Amino acid sequence: MSDNTMPVIPVPAGLDTRCFVLGKGALKYLPQLLKQEFPGLTPWIAADTNTWEAAGKKAQQYLIEAGMAPAEPWIFPGTPVLHPDFAYSEKLSAVMPEKCVPVAVGSGVINDLVKCASGLKKVAYCCVPTACSVDGFTSAGAALAVNHNKQTVKCPAPAALCADVTIMATAPAPMLSSGFADLLTKVVAGADWIIADAAGEQPIREDVWQLIQGNIRRWVADSSDMLNIFEGLAATGYSMQMMLDSRPASGSEHLFSHVWEMEGLQKDGQDVSHGFKVGVGLLATSLLMEYIIKTPVTEAFSKAAPVLSEEERSAEIDALLVKNCYGAEPKKISLAKFRTGQAAAERRELIAGIWEDLGKKLAEQLYSFEELQSMLKKANCPVTPAEIGLSREQFLHGIRTAQLIRNRYTILDFLYEAGLLDEAMKNLERMMA
Ligand SMILES: [Zn+2]
Repeated sequence: MSDNTMPVIPVPAGLDTRCFVLGKGALKYLPQLLKQEFPGLTPWIAADTNTWEAAGKKAQQYLIEAGMAPAEPWIFPGTPVLHPDFAYSEKLSAVMPEKCVPVAVGSGVINDLVKCASGLKKVAYCCVPTACSVDGFTSAGAALAVNHNKQTVKCPAPAALCADVTIMATAPAPMLSSGFADLLTKVVAGADWIIADAAGEQPIREDVWQLIQGNIRRWVADSSDMLNIFEGLAATGYSMQMMLDSRPASGSEHLFSHVWEMEGLQKDGQDVSHGFKVGVGLLATSLLMEYIIKTPVTEAFSKAAPVLSEEERSAEIDALLVKNCYGAEPKKISLAKFRTGQAAAERRELIAGIWEDLGKKLAEQLYSFEELQSMLKKANCPVTPAEIGLSREQFLHGIRTAQLIRNRYTILDFLYEAGLLDEAMKNLERMMA
């Protein structure tokens, strides 16, 4: 292989993302990548002062040396920490030069801002990640606050990525830990999909399943192998592009994190990273699933709580949402999926019928709780609620509330419908010790 061959990783066909360059020293291929994928367009770098120093300056220099006459870069202040606010994307799209290819140089926030700005302006963009921190680099949609309300704003994924492992290695160590935890969630998210499939709620799509689940054990085998981890995180984004849905990448563990985020969770006055929240979440999910794996069906159902009336359920939901920081949707969503009377009885029958077979499938899919805990510890990730600033009450409340906020069918719906959520939650004591 000559020195001028770009280290290209294959991308599934038919996605927004057409070209993915990944390797040590990959940044030097940026001019070649842009010429190939965005011919005739002027590169325009957007960064913050930190990521400008880490990679932006060098990237700009490569572009100048290649005779590409890049536009004057846009550089956000690096401190205080840049928040992913939709208003910044609007601003970026307003100042974006004509006939340019935006190049987002940064971590998740910069990428989301540029992704959305490019979407608003209807131009394709290139992402140069500076940290191996989340799976959102390659997903369609940007996680932004719109009028203080965090949501996924629809916009295309990057058309190209240039990921230089040497640069990502200079990012603060907790960012890689966080990326590792986010990647590890795909194990339990897959298990949630198995549950949704078994309950007849959302069938598994084989090509998407294989893309992630066929490789996940290899990707998480070594929490210091950035090349492998970034490849996994990027593939997770592709799987979401294929499904036009985050199902392959996100299950109950992400729902917990959304709840804690809406509650403004902080640890020592700082926001907790996405990966650290979903990492603690995935341990909780694994303990809930272990209840199905280890409890014989007759023993489990002898303890099932009675089915509530619609009125009782409504009161239960109101009590969970009393903090009033979750928006208007959860009440509607949770009432719409609530089953009572005959429908609830039929559902329990279905659940009891698949319980033991499902337990076997889950055992095959999952690592044990102890294994997951030790993988996270080894990667320097928090493993208890307290380590991410959650009190016991807030942690347990988040588990119940997470079932209300989305239509995605997970272990939470399965156990709630079985009348066994409270029983299974007794397992959670093991991560609070
Ligand atoms: Zn995630």
